[in-house]
Amino acid sequence: MTIVRVALDVPLTRLFDYRADDASDADIGRRAVVAFGRGSKLGLILGIAEASDQPSEKLKPVEAILRDMPALPADWLALCDFCSRYYQHPLGQVIGFALPPFLRRGKLPRPQKRKPMLAMPSKQSPALLPEQQAAVGAITAARGFETFLLHGITGSGKTEVYLRAIEAVLATGGQALMLVPEIALTPQLEQRVSERFPDASVVSAHSGVADAARARGFLAALEGRADIVLGTRLSVFMPLPRLKLIVVDEEHDGSFKQQEGLRYSARDVAVFRAKQLHIPIVLGSATPSLETFHHAASGRYRLLELSRRAVAEAPPEVRTVDTRREKLQDGMSAVLIEGLAERLRRNEQSLVFLNRRGYAPVLACPACGWVSRCRRCAANLVVHLADRRLRCHHCGLEAGIPKACPDCGNQDIHPFGRGTQRLEAALSERFPQARILRIDRDSASTPKKWQALLAAIHEGSADILIGTQMLAKGHDFPLLTLVGVVGADAALFAADFRAPERLFAQLMQVGGRSGRAELPGEVLIQTEHPGHPLYRALAAHDYAAFARAQLDERQAAGFPPFSFQALLRAEAKTIDQSLAFLAAAREAALPLAGEKVSLYDPVPMRMARLKNLERAQLLVESASRPALQTFLAAWNENLHGLKLPRDLRWHLDVDPLEF
Ligand code: ADP
Ligand code: ZN
Ligand code: ZN
Repeated sequence: MTIVRVALDVPLTRLFDYRADDASDADIGRRAVVAFGRGSKLGLILGIAEASDQPSEKLKPVEAILRDMPALPADWLALCDFCSRYYQHPLGQVIGFALPPFLRRGKLPRPQKRKPMLAMPSKQSPALLPEQQAAVGAITAARGFETFLLHGITGSGKTEVYLRAIEAVLATGGQALMLVPEIALTPQLEQRVSERFPDASVVSAHSGVADAARARGFLAALEGRADIVLGTRLSVFMPLPRLKLIVVDEEHDGSFKQQEGLRYSARDVAVFRAKQLHIPIVLGSATPSLETFHHAASGRYRLLELSRRAVAEAPPEVRTVDTRREKLQDGMSAVLIEGLAERLRRNEQSLVFLNRRGYAPVLACPACGWVSRCRRCAANLVVHLADRRLRCHHCGLEAGIPKACPDCGNQDIHPFGRGTQRLEAALSERFPQARILRIDRDSASTPKKWQALLAAIHEGSADILIGTQMLAKGHDFPLLTLVGVVGADAALFAADFRAPERLFAQLMQVGGRSGRAELPGEVLIQTEHPGHPLYRALAAHDYAAFARAQLDERQAAGFPPFSFQALLRAEAKTIDQSLAFLAAAREAALPLAGEKVSLYDPVPMRMARLKNLERAQLLVESASRPALQTFLAAWNENLHGLKLPRDLRWHLDVDPLEF
């Protein structure tokens, strides 16, 4: 008797056995349709056996083995298996996530009619600068697995280094995978890649790619027809039989970590994959994550530095503006306002960076203290004056703006605080002649709108930009010479230990937008803490100094990268239910934890209520990653056996980024 062992996309860790007399080892990695429950499901064959633990009369025959596409290769299955173990997620669900939905439904996309190839001349690559040359040399000389950190500010020519390394890989018939953050994957980069490699087949993989096209890209990769895959975090799961190089651009970016379902870090999975395939991987950033920086400092990763811009010579001048001594006007200092006026006179662009969208963070009644709160979350409703709505940024709940206080009837209620819309209104009033463009998730709600905004900035049809962190990533604005930063201080003292790291990266990136070509740039940071080491390191363009200081603090506190963490989170109708579940989970963990693993107390999450659910979490920590992994595997199994109150849901987050 021949048995196929099938992984199904269900929340169970085991595989399912079916009879399949015509199956052979060649079917491992193929999709199969099998009976499950009252219906049938599509799964992936992971093994062939001669006998099953199940009594043979209970075994159902497989309904169909789909042999219409190549089997997924062993290394791809091993990658899914690693993610399943590392992130404590059922293997069938990892596979279900990694396969494009189209293929998961048992379908194959129709092949696309080939677009007639335009004979594009390959775009000449510039002669490399010495540091670029050294970086390309090191990467192309790597034999086997090696992790490189390519550290260089925006404009230092990192992308040029990636392209040269990819070129070398293509020349030997290999495939290359390039991961980029969600928002930076602009047509500009796609265009730069296809211009450089006009004969190569480049597959794009990101959330904007339609279902059928995504499946086509996956098949092109699997069948070895794709030479370069360029995509966001999901593309780390692209099957690539001739993969010879992985690049992770902006490796510090938070969008590489998925915050739901399979909570994986695409950067970390990429490093595992490179190791598994014995190939080099390049992590690039102007502000590497402290984890990566630490590995580079300890010699585990090899550091490649690009210390200056490739084209414009000087980096922008960064200054702090002490706002303690001054009465601000609409949240802006006289220096900033004068700076904006000067840029207007010179026909240059400026940008005011405020990482808070909406008009004001809250509407409040000064008479009775009422504030606009979301009734489903522990959060305020944000005032959106543009469409006259109150909106929860966490759950999307909306309401009209009341004319009077709902509690006391007072008609004199006000928006408090400042968001991008309010800044826009203030600047329009102050500079009526200026063309002002606001760039945030509201104004750039679709990729199309986002592209239109970028185009407007590029062609110079805006004088003052007001933007959130959306603007910080991966675009050069040739006319921009002034960046004003307002409202950044809050992140200096946030409870989240990663907040300063994120702030530094954002400010460095947003500052890096200014001063290209012949126009020197200036960055003005409004702050009540002008002497803060973070701002001083920023002014000195000294990421390494900042990183070392942060690492010292992390080491003293025992935070990552000096420890490894996992969170067990629970959500239920009441906080007591969530906490009780976590307490039981902690009890179950005690005999498993051993000396190397610390269990903290269950606590409500910082934002405890979300969408009417009360959330709590339990932190687990260890200085040893293997010890933590061993513990988590045993604990996870236990957790599945715990009795749950109805409606309680829980998950594990390994290497969590947000607390
Ligand atoms: P990064 O990825 O670090 O932001 P890029 O590779 O995009 O930097 O380079 C920034 C700009 O400098 C681009 O316009 C690029 O074409 C140009 N550039 C990069 N390397 C060189 C070089 N060696 N010679 C001339 N121009 C270069
Ligand atoms: Zn009131
Ligand atoms: Zn809400």
